[in-house]
Amino acid sequence: MILSRLNQTRSYFTSMIIKPVQCLKDNYSYILLDQTSKQAAFVDPVEPQKVLKALEDYPDYKLSMILTTHHHWDHAGGNLKLLNQFPITCYGGSDKVEGVGHILKDNDTVQLGDLTIKALSTTGHTMDHICYYIEHGQDRAVFTGDCLFSSGCGRFFEGTPVDMWKALSKLLSLPDDTKVYFGHEYTVSNLKFAQHVEKDNQDIEKKLEWANQVGCTTPSTVANEKLTNPFMRVNLPAVSRLIITDASNASVTDVLGKLRKMKDSF
Ligand SMILES: [Zn+2]
Repeated sequence: MILSRLNQTRSYFTSMIIKPVQCLKDNYSYILLDQTSKQAAFVDPVEPQKVLKALEDYPDYKLSMILTTHHHWDHAGGNLKLLNQFPITCYGGSDKVEGVGHILKDNDTVQLGDLTIKALSTTGHTMDHICYYIEHGQDRAVFTGDCLFSSGCGRFFEGTPVDMWKALSKLLSLPDDTKVYFGHEYTVSNLKFAQHVEKDNQDIEKKLEWANQVGCTTPSTVANEKLTNPFMRVNLPAVSRLIITDASNASVTDVLGKLRKMKDSF
């Protein structure tokens, strides 16, 4: 009895703490902490001084690594400054990432104390885009950079709709309760576009009302994205019909490409 209770307590324990840090105009950097080893990782720390300042709330923790989602300046632009100051490794998806010391491939893992961080190659926005997925105890989280936003997705700068659908499908297949930590606060404008696409979607309406009140909307969840993100819903016939008139002949990637073009000029 006591043992089973102990096991239950243990299974609910999570070693993971995540703190968002607002940077630049609308970027999010994140601090990822492992409570067991007292190690910290910075995700896309574009303004190092702001992220280091936020880490001061956790004086027992030591910075161990940088995780970079992709090579764009507003995500990777703080890496060199930090690497000059700390003897740490910077992870990323290609040598285009400023300061990268270790290039990750799909499904590679990185260890931060008790936390196993899995790299998901998610091309489309850039060809070196990596999302970082972590599962610990009952807690699951994914850092999605500029691949997936709350109720939106990144522009297809380097990849095709086929690349992006592959990436979004990987994120769709994560457990529903996975928390989604995205790279920009675009939620209100994304939801206005989502509403333009799906006028009768109550979940979008409710989320827009909420987002207008709270300001900072990170994290989302995979379950919520399935309900409110038009780019995650292009595989649903009810949604694709709203985007392409003759959806019966269109592939899911045709629909995704058309939807992205609509958003680009919205
Ligand atoms: Zn970007």
